[in-house]
Amino acid sequence: MRVLRPAVFLDRDGTINEEVGYLTDVAVLRIYPFATDAIRLLRRAGFAVVVVTNQGGIARGLMTREFVEATHARMAATLARGGAHIEAWYYCPHHPASVIEGLSTPCVCRKPGTGMATDAASALGLDLSRSWVIGDHWRDVQMGQAVGARTILVRTGHGRDQEGARPDGQQVEAICDNLMAAVRVVLQS
Ligand SMILES: [Mg+2]
Ligand SMILES: [Zn+2]
Repeated sequence: MRVLRPAVFLDRDGTINEEVGYLTDVAVLRIYPFATDAIRLLRRAGFAVVVVTNQGGIARGLMTREFVEATHARMAATLARGGAHIEAWYYCPHHPASVIEGLSTPCVCRKPGTGMATDAASALGLDLSRSWVIGDHWRDVQMGQAVGARTILVRTGHGRDQEGARPDGQQVEAICDNLMAAVRVVLQS
């Protein structure tokens, strides 16, 4: 029997790197200074770390899949230099305003849809009930809740605005200033 591992699912823009709207030029990519340490601490504590990101700019014709994948390779290399290993990168290329054939919504993967998390769970052997989702949008939190994970909203990126526009009845385990503060909550639980 396969032993399932806990994971921490991280949103990308506004959580690991600065939110810049649609990231279409790698020259403006800025990984937050605390991200490397935060991810390394999660790994050391035994969590698989998986990125799950909506990249609707692909459907909108603003960027290509190749660009997104090259950006992830570059981010992975930067993080790995600091000992922070991301186990897998998942992105949703779809968008409601798609101009590209086959990339319109609805899809199963665009957060708050759960497709990326459930695909990762089956591919990597992850226990979603012992996992966490950390992101700067309520849709990140909602995806986590839909798969039975625990959730943290961070105030970086759009998080501070999101905090002030909380949907009625919306629950969340914690709201933290940034990814490092969120990781402390995960590690103390
Ligand atoms: Mg985000
Ligand atoms: Zn999708």
